[in-house]
Amino acid sequence: MPDSLPPDAHGMARDLAIADVQSTIVDVPTVRRHKLSNTSVTAQSYVLVRVRLANGAEGIGEAATLGGPRWSEESVEAMKANIDAYLAPAVLGLRADQFEAAGLRMDAAAKRNNAAKAAVETALFDAVGKTFGLPAAALLGGAVRDRVPVLWTLASGDPAQEVEEAGCKLDARLHRTFKVKVGAQDPAADMARMRHLARALEGRATLIVDANQAWDETVSARCLPQLAEMGVVLVEQPVPAWNVAGLARLRARPGTPPLLADECVFDAHDMLAVVHAAAADAVSLKLVKHAGLLGVKRVAAVAEAAGIGLYGGCLLESSVGAAAHLQVFSTLRELAWGCEHFGPQILTGEYVTEPLRFEEFHVHLPTGPGIGVAVDEDRLRHYARA
Ligand SMILES: [Mg+2]
Repeated sequence: MPDSLPPDAHGMARDLAIADVQSTIVDVPTVRRHKLSNTSVTAQSYVLVRVRLANGAEGIGEAATLGGPRWSEESVEAMKANIDAYLAPAVLGLRADQFEAAGLRMDAAAKRNNAAKAAVETALFDAVGKTFGLPAAALLGGAVRDRVPVLWTLASGDPAQEVEEAGCKLDARLHRTFKVKVGAQDPAADMARMRHLARALEGRATLIVDANQAWDETVSARCLPQLAEMGVVLVEQPVPAWNVAGLARLRARPGTPPLLADECVFDAHDMLAVVHAAAADAVSLKLVKHAGLLGVKRVAAVAEAAGIGLYGGCLLESSVGAAAHLQVFSTLRELAWGCEHFGPQILTGEYVTEPLRFEEFHVHLPTGPGIGVAVDEDRLRHYARA
Protein backbone atom coordinates (compact mmCIF):
# COMPACT_ATOMS: atom_id res chain seq x y z
CA MET A 1 0.00 0.00 0.00
CA PRO A 2 1.56 3.34 -0.96
CA ASP A 3 1.90 5.62 2.06
CA SER A 4 1.63 8.65 -0.17
CA LEU A 5 1.83 9.56 -3.81
CA PRO A 6 4.31 12.09 -5.19
CA PRO A 7 2.89 15.61 -5.40
CA ASP A 8 1.55 16.62 -8.79
CA ALA A 9 2.86 19.58 -10.79
CA HIS A 10 0.78 21.98 -8.70
CA GLY A 11 1.69 20.52 -5.33
CA MET A 12 -1.92 19.41 -4.91
CA ALA A 13 -1.00 16.00 -3.50
CA ARG A 14 1.00 17.50 -0.67
CA ASP A 15 -1.87 19.87 0.02
CA LEU A 16 -4.28 16.96 0.48
CA ALA A 17 -2.34 15.49 3.42
CA ILE A 18 -4.59 14.84 6.41
CA ALA A 19 -3.32 17.24 9.07
CA ASP A 20 -5.86 16.85 11.86
CA VAL A 21 -8.80 14.66 12.91
CA GLN A 22 -11.12 15.71 15.75
CA SER A 23 -14.23 14.01 17.12
CA THR A 24 -17.10 15.49 19.14
CA ILE A 25 -20.11 13.81 20.76
CA VAL A 26 -23.36 15.60 19.98
CA ASP A 27 -26.79 14.99 21.60
CA VAL A 28 -29.97 16.30 20.00
CA PRO A 29 -33.43 15.75 21.58
CA THR A 30 -36.12 14.18 19.39
CA VAL A 31 -39.63 15.60 18.95
CA ARG A 32 -41.17 12.42 20.43
CA ARG A 33 -40.16 9.12 21.97
CA HIS A 34 -38.95 6.68 19.26
CA LYS A 35 -39.61 3.06 20.28
CA LEU A 36 -37.92 0.07 18.68
CA SER A 37 -38.18 -3.57 19.71
CA ASN A 38 -35.10 -3.33 21.92
CA THR A 39 -34.65 0.34 22.77
CA SER A 40 -36.41 3.66 23.04
CA VAL A 41 -34.88 7.11 22.56
CA THR A 42 -35.81 10.72 23.36
CA ALA A 43 -32.50 12.12 22.13
CA GLN A 44 -30.19 11.13 19.33
CA SER A 45 -26.44 10.92 19.86
CA TYR A 46 -23.83 11.37 17.17
CA VAL A 47 -20.09 11.54 16.80
CA LEU A 48 -19.12 14.40 14.52
CA VAL A 49 -15.72 13.90 12.89
CA ARG A 50 -13.87 16.94 11.55
CA VAL A 51 -10.86 16.47 9.33
CA ARG A 52 -8.48 19.28 8.35
CA LEU A 53 -6.16 18.96 5.37
CA ALA A 54 -2.77 20.63 4.91
CA ASN A 55 -4.40 22.85 2.27
CA GLY A 56 -6.78 24.20 4.93
CA ALA A 57 -9.89 22.39 3.64
CA GLU A 58 -12.15 20.93 6.32
CA GLY A 59 -14.39 17.91 6.04
CA ILE A 60 -17.14 16.56 8.29
CA GLY A 61 -18.68 13.15 8.84
CA GLU A 62 -21.22 11.81 11.30
CA ALA A 63 -21.77 8.47 13.01
CA ALA A 64 -25.16 7.77 14.57
CA THR A 65 -26.26 5.30 17.23
CA LEU A 66 -29.68 4.44 18.58
CA GLY A 67 -29.90 4.39 22.37
CA GLY A 68 -26.28 3.45 23.07
CA PRO A 69 -24.73 0.14 21.99
CA ARG A 70 -28.11 -1.56 21.48
CA TRP A 71 -28.82 -1.40 17.76
CA SER A 72 -25.24 -2.56 17.15
CA GLU A 73 -22.18 -2.86 19.35
CA GLU A 74 -21.02 0.73 18.86
CA SER A 75 -21.84 3.62 21.21
CA VAL A 76 -20.86 7.25 20.71
CA GLU A 77 -18.53 7.02 23.71
CA ALA A 78 -16.73 3.97 22.28
CA MET A 79 -16.62 5.51 18.80
CA LYS A 80 -15.01 8.70 20.06
CA ALA A 81 -12.45 6.73 22.07
CA ASN A 82 -11.56 4.50 19.12
CA ILE A 83 -11.44 7.37 16.62
CA ASP A 84 -9.15 9.41 18.88
CA ALA A 85 -6.85 6.54 19.88
CA TYR A 86 -6.74 4.38 16.73
CA LEU A 87 -8.52 5.60 13.60
CA ALA A 88 -7.26 9.20 13.57
CA PRO A 89 -3.59 8.23 14.05
CA ALA A 90 -4.03 5.59 11.30
CA VAL A 91 -4.95 8.16 8.66
CA LEU A 92 -2.94 11.22 9.75
CA GLY A 93 -0.46 12.23 7.04
CA LEU A 94 -2.20 10.17 4.36
CA ARG A 95 -3.48 11.91 1.23
CA ALA A 96 -7.18 12.45 1.84
CA ASP A 97 -8.11 11.25 -1.67
CA GLN A 98 -6.59 7.83 -0.97
CA PHE A 99 -9.97 6.62 0.28
CA GLU A 100 -9.26 2.90 -0.13
CA ALA A 101 -5.84 3.27 1.55
CA ALA A 102 -7.54 5.06 4.44
CA GLY A 103 -9.96 2.14 4.70
CA LEU A 104 -7.12 -0.38 4.72
CA ARG A 105 -5.27 1.56 7.40
CA MET A 106 -8.38 1.87 9.56
CA ASP A 107 -9.14 -1.85 9.13
CA ALA A 108 -5.58 -2.64 10.23
CA ALA A 109 -5.97 -0.34 13.26
CA ALA A 110 -9.38 -1.57 14.46
CA LYS A 111 -11.68 -4.54 13.86
CA ARG A 112 -15.23 -3.60 12.77
CA ASN A 113 -16.07 -0.22 14.38
CA ASN A 114 -17.91 0.36 11.11
CA ALA A 115 -19.85 3.47 12.15
CA ALA A 116 -16.70 5.17 13.43
CA LYS A 117 -14.83 4.31 10.22
CA ALA A 118 -17.74 5.60 8.14
CA ALA A 119 -17.64 8.97 9.90
CA VAL A 120 -13.90 9.35 9.23
CA GLU A 121 -14.24 8.26 5.59
CA THR A 122 -17.17 10.65 5.06
CA ALA A 123 -15.06 13.53 6.38
CA LEU A 124 -12.34 12.64 3.85
CA PHE A 125 -14.82 12.68 0.95
CA ASP A 126 -16.17 16.00 2.24
CA ALA A 127 -12.71 17.58 2.53
CA VAL A 128 -11.58 16.37 -0.91
CA GLY A 129 -14.86 17.47 -2.48
CA LYS A 130 -14.50 20.90 -0.90
CA THR A 131 -10.90 21.14 -2.12
CA PHE A 132 -11.90 20.56 -5.74
CA GLY A 133 -15.37 22.14 -5.63
CA LEU A 134 -17.03 18.79 -6.38
CA PRO A 135 -19.91 17.03 -4.62
CA ALA A 136 -18.93 13.76 -2.92
CA ALA A 137 -21.28 12.04 -5.39
CA ALA A 138 -18.93 13.05 -8.22
CA LEU A 139 -16.13 11.16 -6.47
CA LEU A 140 -18.40 8.10 -6.19
CA GLY A 141 -19.40 7.84 -9.85
CA GLY A 142 -21.66 10.86 -10.18
CA ALA A 143 -25.30 11.41 -9.29
CA VAL A 144 -28.05 9.83 -11.41
CA ARG A 145 -30.84 11.41 -9.30
CA ASP A 146 -31.13 14.66 -7.36
CA ARG A 147 -33.86 13.57 -4.93
CA VAL A 148 -35.01 10.34 -3.30
CA PRO A 149 -38.50 9.29 -2.12
CA VAL A 150 -38.40 9.36 1.69
CA LEU A 151 -40.62 7.52 4.16
CA TRP A 152 -41.50 8.35 7.78
CA THR A 153 -41.30 5.95 10.69
CA LEU A 154 -44.20 5.49 13.12
CA ALA A 155 -42.70 4.37 16.41
CA SER A 156 -44.62 5.81 19.35
CA GLY A 157 -46.50 2.53 19.84
CA ASP A 158 -49.82 4.39 20.27
CA PRO A 159 -51.95 3.68 17.17
CA ALA A 160 -54.22 6.72 17.58
CA GLN A 161 -51.19 9.02 17.85
CA GLU A 162 -49.57 7.23 14.90
CA VAL A 163 -52.59 7.72 12.64
CA GLU A 164 -52.62 11.41 13.53
CA GLU A 165 -48.87 11.72 12.95
CA ALA A 166 -49.15 10.00 9.55
CA GLY A 167 -52.07 12.26 8.63
CA CYS A 168 -49.96 15.37 9.35
CA LYS A 169 -47.14 14.06 7.16
CA LEU A 170 -49.57 13.25 4.34
CA ASP A 171 -51.26 16.66 4.57
CA ALA A 172 -47.87 18.39 4.45
CA ARG A 173 -46.93 16.23 1.41
CA LEU A 174 -43.74 15.19 3.21
CA HIS A 175 -44.20 11.41 3.42
CA ARG A 176 -46.67 8.89 2.01
CA THR A 177 -44.87 5.68 2.90
CA PHE A 178 -44.72 4.78 6.59
CA LYS A 179 -42.53 2.27 8.34
CA VAL A 180 -44.00 0.91 11.55
CA LYS A 181 -41.67 -0.30 14.29
CA VAL A 182 -42.99 -3.47 15.90
CA GLY A 183 -41.65 -5.91 18.49
CA ALA A 184 -41.70 -3.70 21.60
CA GLN A 185 -44.99 -5.35 22.66
CA ASP A 186 -46.38 -8.85 22.14
CA PRO A 187 -47.10 -9.89 18.54
CA ALA A 188 -50.90 -10.02 18.98
CA ALA A 189 -50.93 -6.41 20.20
CA ASP A 190 -48.73 -5.38 17.28
CA MET A 191 -51.03 -7.13 14.80
CA ALA A 192 -54.03 -5.29 16.27
CA ARG A 193 -52.10 -2.02 16.06
CA MET A 194 -51.16 -2.75 12.43
CA ARG A 195 -54.77 -3.56 11.53
CA HIS A 196 -55.82 -0.21 13.01
CA LEU A 197 -53.15 1.65 11.03
CA ALA A 198 -53.84 -0.23 7.78
CA ARG A 199 -57.57 0.57 7.99
CA ALA A 200 -57.06 4.20 8.95
CA LEU A 201 -54.50 4.87 6.20
CA GLU A 202 -55.99 2.65 3.48
CA GLY A 203 -55.73 4.20 0.02
CA ARG A 204 -53.68 7.13 1.34
CA ALA A 205 -50.36 5.56 2.30
CA THR A 206 -48.05 2.59 1.82
CA LEU A 207 -46.98 0.64 4.91
CA ILE A 208 -43.83 -1.28 5.68
CA VAL A 209 -42.91 -2.95 9.00
CA ASP A 210 -39.61 -3.30 10.87
CA ALA A 211 -39.37 -5.83 13.71
CA ASN A 212 -35.68 -5.17 14.42
CA GLN A 213 -35.01 -8.91 15.01
CA ALA A 214 -37.74 -9.19 17.66
CA TRP A 215 -39.56 -12.28 16.40
CA ASP A 216 -38.52 -15.89 16.17
CA GLU A 217 -39.27 -17.98 13.12
CA THR A 218 -42.56 -19.34 14.51
CA VAL A 219 -43.97 -15.93 15.39
CA SER A 220 -42.78 -14.58 12.04
CA ALA A 221 -44.48 -17.44 10.17
CA ARG A 222 -47.74 -16.49 11.92
CA CYS A 223 -47.47 -12.69 11.52
CA LEU A 224 -45.99 -12.26 8.04
CA PRO A 225 -49.03 -13.53 6.06
CA GLN A 226 -51.30 -11.36 8.25
CA LEU A 227 -49.20 -8.32 7.41
CA ALA A 228 -49.34 -9.19 3.70
CA GLU A 229 -53.14 -9.38 3.92
CA MET A 230 -53.20 -5.93 5.52
CA GLY A 231 -51.35 -4.64 2.46
CA VAL A 232 -47.91 -4.25 4.08
CA VAL A 233 -45.49 -4.20 1.14
CA LEU A 234 -42.19 -4.97 2.89
CA VAL A 235 -41.13 -6.46 6.25
CA GLU A 236 -37.70 -5.67 7.63
CA GLN A 237 -35.55 -8.06 9.66
CA PRO A 238 -38.27 -10.03 11.46
CA VAL A 239 -35.82 -12.59 12.90
CA PRO A 240 -32.41 -12.21 14.59
CA ALA A 241 -29.47 -11.21 12.40
CA TRP A 242 -27.83 -14.63 12.85
CA ASN A 243 -30.84 -16.48 11.46
CA VAL A 244 -30.32 -15.97 7.72
CA ALA A 245 -31.45 -19.57 7.09
CA GLY A 246 -34.68 -18.84 8.98
CA LEU A 247 -35.22 -15.68 6.94
CA ALA A 248 -34.83 -17.78 3.78
CA ARG A 249 -37.34 -20.39 5.04
CA LEU A 250 -39.84 -17.63 5.82
CA ARG A 251 -39.33 -16.06 2.41
CA ALA A 252 -40.09 -19.40 0.73
CA ARG A 253 -43.46 -19.74 2.53
CA PRO A 254 -46.59 -18.82 0.58
CA GLY A 255 -48.14 -15.56 1.76
CA THR A 256 -44.88 -13.99 2.96
CA PRO A 257 -44.52 -10.36 1.85
CA PRO A 258 -41.18 -9.17 0.43
CA LEU A 259 -38.44 -9.21 3.09
CA LEU A 260 -35.85 -6.52 3.76
CA ALA A 261 -32.48 -7.50 5.24
CA ASP A 262 -31.02 -4.99 7.69
CA GLU A 263 -29.08 -6.11 10.77
CA CYS A 264 -27.91 -9.31 9.01
CA VAL A 265 -25.95 -7.38 6.34
CA PHE A 266 -22.97 -5.37 7.58
CA ASP A 267 -20.52 -6.01 4.76
CA ALA A 268 -20.34 -7.41 1.24
CA HIS A 269 -19.60 -10.90 2.61
CA ASP A 270 -22.83 -10.80 4.64
CA MET A 271 -24.65 -9.62 1.52
CA LEU A 272 -23.25 -12.54 -0.44
CA ALA A 273 -24.40 -14.98 2.27
CA VAL A 274 -27.94 -13.54 2.06
CA VAL A 275 -27.80 -13.92 -1.72
CA HIS A 276 -26.63 -17.55 -1.45
CA ALA A 277 -29.42 -18.31 1.03
CA ALA A 278 -32.04 -16.49 -1.09
CA ALA A 279 -33.06 -14.85 2.18
CA ALA A 280 -34.18 -11.35 1.14
CA ASP A 281 -35.90 -9.31 -1.56
CA ALA A 282 -34.21 -6.05 -0.61
CA VAL A 283 -31.35 -4.75 1.54
CA SER A 284 -31.12 -1.68 3.75
CA LEU A 285 -27.92 0.27 3.03
CA LYS A 286 -26.39 2.26 5.90
CA LEU A 287 -23.07 3.96 6.48
CA VAL A 288 -22.97 2.72 10.08
CA LYS A 289 -23.07 -0.88 8.84
CA HIS A 290 -20.95 -0.72 5.71
CA ALA A 291 -18.06 1.35 7.18
CA GLY A 292 -18.37 4.14 4.66
CA LEU A 293 -19.54 5.41 1.30
CA LEU A 294 -17.34 2.94 -0.59
CA GLY A 295 -18.67 0.12 1.58
CA VAL A 296 -22.23 1.10 0.63
CA LYS A 297 -21.24 0.83 -3.05
CA ARG A 298 -19.66 -2.60 -2.45
CA VAL A 299 -22.73 -4.03 -0.68
CA ALA A 300 -25.02 -2.46 -3.29
CA ALA A 301 -23.00 -4.07 -6.11
CA VAL A 302 -23.41 -7.57 -4.63
CA ALA A 303 -27.15 -6.98 -4.12
CA GLU A 304 -27.62 -5.58 -7.62
CA ALA A 305 -25.80 -8.55 -9.13
CA ALA A 306 -28.33 -10.84 -7.43
CA GLY A 307 -31.37 -8.78 -8.37
CA ILE A 308 -31.95 -7.74 -4.74
CA GLY A 309 -33.60 -4.32 -4.40
CA LEU A 310 -31.84 -1.41 -2.72
CA TYR A 311 -33.32 0.56 0.17
CA GLY A 312 -31.67 3.64 1.65
CA GLY A 313 -31.57 2.94 5.38
CA CYS A 314 -30.87 5.31 8.27
CA LEU A 315 -30.13 5.39 11.98
CA LEU A 316 -31.84 8.74 12.58
CA GLU A 317 -28.87 10.71 11.27
CA SER A 318 -28.98 14.51 11.33
CA SER A 319 -28.59 16.48 8.10
CA VAL A 320 -24.84 15.73 8.25
CA GLY A 321 -25.19 11.94 8.13
CA ALA A 322 -28.27 12.07 5.92
CA ALA A 323 -26.46 14.28 3.38
CA ALA A 324 -23.59 11.79 3.23
CA HIS A 325 -26.06 8.94 2.59
CA LEU A 326 -27.76 10.96 -0.14
CA GLN A 327 -24.40 11.56 -1.84
CA VAL A 328 -23.87 7.82 -2.28
CA PHE A 329 -27.56 6.90 -2.78
CA SER A 330 -27.68 9.43 -5.64
CA THR A 331 -25.02 7.41 -7.48
CA LEU A 332 -26.82 4.03 -7.34
CA ARG A 333 -28.31 3.09 -10.70
CA GLU A 334 -31.37 1.59 -9.01
CA LEU A 335 -32.86 2.54 -5.66
CA ALA A 336 -36.13 0.66 -5.98
CA TRP A 337 -37.36 1.18 -2.42
CA GLY A 338 -36.38 4.84 -1.91
CA CYS A 339 -34.95 5.90 1.45
CA GLU A 340 -35.85 6.56 5.07
CA HIS A 341 -33.69 9.59 5.81
CA PHE A 342 -36.32 11.39 7.81
CA GLY A 343 -33.84 11.79 10.73
CA PRO A 344 -33.50 15.57 10.38
CA GLN A 345 -37.29 15.83 10.72
CA ILE A 346 -37.48 14.02 14.05
CA LEU A 347 -34.84 16.21 15.73
CA THR A 348 -35.77 19.32 17.70
CA GLY A 349 -32.84 21.12 16.10
CA GLU A 350 -29.88 20.76 13.77
CA TYR A 351 -26.22 21.76 13.78
CA VAL A 352 -25.81 22.64 10.12
CA THR A 353 -26.17 26.04 8.47
CA GLU A 354 -28.77 24.75 6.02
CA PRO A 355 -30.73 21.55 6.79
CA LEU A 356 -31.77 19.16 4.05
CA ARG A 357 -34.83 20.02 1.97
CA PHE A 358 -37.90 17.79 2.29
CA GLU A 359 -40.59 18.45 -0.30
CA GLU A 360 -43.25 16.57 -2.26
CA PHE A 361 -42.49 13.23 -0.54
CA HIS A 362 -38.79 13.45 -1.43
CA VAL A 363 -35.57 14.47 0.29
CA HIS A 364 -33.29 16.48 -1.97
CA LEU A 365 -29.60 15.92 -2.57
CA PRO A 366 -27.93 19.08 -1.27
CA THR A 367 -26.00 21.05 -3.85
CA GLY A 368 -22.53 22.31 -3.07
CA PRO A 369 -19.15 20.67 -2.67
CA GLY A 370 -18.35 17.69 -0.47
CA ILE A 371 -21.37 16.21 1.30
CA GLY A 372 -23.20 19.49 0.70
CA VAL A 373 -23.83 20.68 4.26
CA ALA A 374 -21.72 22.75 6.68
CA VAL A 375 -21.56 22.95 10.48
CA ASP A 376 -23.22 25.87 12.25
CA GLU A 377 -20.65 26.49 15.00
CA ASP A 378 -23.10 28.11 17.45
CA ARG A 379 -25.61 25.29 17.09
CA LEU A 380 -22.83 22.70 17.41
CA ARG A 381 -21.64 24.31 20.67
CA HIS A 382 -25.24 24.14 21.90
CA TYR A 383 -25.60 20.39 21.22
CA ALA A 384 -22.03 19.24 21.89
CA ARG A 385 -21.68 17.08 25.01
CA ALA A 386 -19.80 18.92 27.74
MG1 LIG B 1 -34.06 -1.73 10.50
